[in-house]
Amino acid sequence: MSSGSDKEPVIDRKARMKLPFKDLVFRPPEERVQDFDPVARLLTPEEAIEAARRCIHCPDPAPCQEACPGHNNISAALKLIEEGDFIGAAELYRQISSLPEICGLVCPHEDLCQGHCVRAKRGEPVLTGALEAFVTDYQRKHGEIKVAVGPDSGRKVAIIGAGPAGLSCADLLRGFGHAVTIFERYPAPGGLLLYGIPNFKLPKETVHARIQDILDAGVEFVGNTRIGVDKSIDDLLADGFDAVFIGVGTGVDATMDAPGSDLPGVHLATDFLVRTNVDPKLLPEDQRGKLEVGRRVVVIGGGDTASDCLRSALRLGAEEVTCLYRRTEAEMPGNKKDRHLAEEEGAKFRFLTQPIRYIEGADGSVAAVECLQCELGEPDDSGRRRPIPIEGSNFTVEADTVILALGYWPDESIGKTTMDLETHKWGLIVVDDETGASSRKGIFAGGDAVTGPSLVVNAMLAGRRAAEAINEFLMG
Ligand SMILES: Cc1cc2nc3c(=O)[nH]c(=O)nc-3n(C[C@H](O)[C@H](O)[C@H](O)COP(=O)(O)OP(=O)(O)OC[C@H]3O[C@@H](n4cnc5c(N)ncnc54)[C@H](O)[C@@H]3O)c2cc1C
Repeated sequence: MSSGSDKEPVIDRKARMKLPFKDLVFRPPEERVQDFDPVARLLTPEEAIEAARRCIHCPDPAPCQEACPGHNNISAALKLIEEGDFIGAAELYRQISSLPEICGLVCPHEDLCQGHCVRAKRGEPVLTGALEAFVTDYQRKHGEIKVAVGPDSGRKVAIIGAGPAGLSCADLLRGFGHAVTIFERYPAPGGLLLYGIPNFKLPKETVHARIQDILDAGVEFVGNTRIGVDKSIDDLLADGFDAVFIGVGTGVDATMDAPGSDLPGVHLATDFLVRTNVDPKLLPEDQRGKLEVGRRVVVIGGGDTASDCLRSALRLGAEEVTCLYRRTEAEMPGNKKDRHLAEEEGAKFRFLTQPIRYIEGADGSVAAVECLQCELGEPDDSGRRRPIPIEGSNFTVEADTVILALGYWPDESIGKTTMDLETHKWGLIVVDDETGASSRKGIFAGGDAVTGPSLVVNAMLAGRRAAEAINEFLMG
C-alpha cells in the first residue's frame, strides 16, 4: 500500500552518495528549556523520502542491520520509505520489534545502526533512527495498528513489571493466544518509559498509545501490586497462572553513604524524575508533590540518568546546573548526544570531582557539596581508569538541590520470596540467555532485571525471546 507522495525515480549508488545530508530540525536551546516538549521535530514525508534516498543499500548483511540488536531490516524499510510506502516500512519494523515508535526515538542510534552506517566513515550517516520514528508515527496517524491475537490457547501467563520487557512479552504472548495479566508496582503501565525517561526525549503520548494497543489486544493490567510484597510468585501459580515472566527492571537507586545525605534538598534520581516528569495522577500519593529546585542544582553521576536530571532541572528554572563526575569525560558511560544537548541547554560539567559531604545551610536544607579533586589511576574491573581522590584538595560547590544519579540495583523482594529462583549476589535473576528460562520451571525473566541497567531495545528483545520460550513451554 502506497501511503506517501509519488514514487521517486530509482537512482544508482553514485547519485545516492551525492545527495546532501539534512539533520533533524532541533528547537533552539533557549526555547526548548522552557518546556518538557520534544527537542527535535519528526521528519516530514518529503524529508523522510530524501533521507531514505541517501541509503546506498549495502550488500547483505548491511552493517546497520548487524549493529541493530534486533537486526531490523533497515535497508528494506528504507527502500519502502523511498517509494512512499511508509506504512509498509512501519510494518516491517514491527515484525521484529514490539516498540519501534519508542526505539526510533530513544535508541542510542549513534552507537548502533546509525553509527555503523558506511556513509558515516566519510561524512554523515543515514538518519535510520529518525526514519523509524517517522514511519511508526505516520502509521499511527494515517493507518491502523493492531496487536495480533491468536486463537485462545486456554493458558494463562502472569507478567511482573510493565516496562519494555514485560510489555513486549505480553505483545507476543497474545499473538500465541495466551491470556496475559501484567502485575505492576506503579499505578500505570510503562516502566521507565513512563516513570523515568523524560518527555523531551520520549513523549508520553507515544508511550500511552503503544500501551493502549497492547491493552486493546486483551492484556489485563493490575497496578499498585508489588509482587514479592503484596503477593508472591507462588500465589500467582496457585491462582492458576501456567507460567510467569519477571520483567521488574532495576528500580532501586544506588546511594552514596556521605554525611548529610538525609538533608532536605538531596534527592534520588528516580524520585526527582518522576515528580518532575510524570502526570501526578499516575503517581502513588506520596510522590505527587512537585519539587522546587531553587537556583543551583548539582547532579552527581555520569550516565544517561544524570543527563536527564540535568536537563529536567534546567526546565524547572534552575539557573546553575552542574554535573559532578569522578572521572573524565572519556570514561563517562552516558550517551554523548544527550550530554551535548545538556551542554547546549546550559548544563556545566565538573570532571575528576568526588563528593564527600553535603553541607547544611541556615534553613536546615542542603546548601553545598564538599568535594575532593581526583586524578586517574590504573583501570578497574570496568576497564575504566579508577578515580583517586587527592588528599587535602577539598572544595565546595554551592547547591540548593542535589540529585544522586549513581546507577541502579534490582529490587530483591522477588528473589527473596521465590524458592529456588537463582539470583546473582546483587539480586539480578540468572536465566538461560536464549530462552530467559530461570532456574525454576515455568518462571522466565528478561530485561534489566537480568542484565542490569541496559537499553529499551535490549529489554524489548528479551521480553520477546521469553514469550517464544514460554509458548514452547506451554504448548510443548
Ligand atoms: C532516567 C533513565 C533514562 C533512560 N534513557 C534511555 C534511553 O534514552 N534509551 C534507552 O534505550 N534506554 C534508556 N534507559 C534505560 C531503559 O529505560 C531500560 O533499560 C528499560 O526500561 C528496561 O526495561 P525493563 O522492562 O527491563 O525494566 P523497567 O523499564 O524498569 O520496568 C520494570 C517495571 O517493573 C515494575 N516492578 C519492579 N518491581 C516490581 C515488583 N516487585 N512487582 C511488580 N512490578 C514491579 C517497575 O515499577 C517497572 O514498571 C534509561 C533509564 C533511565 C533510568
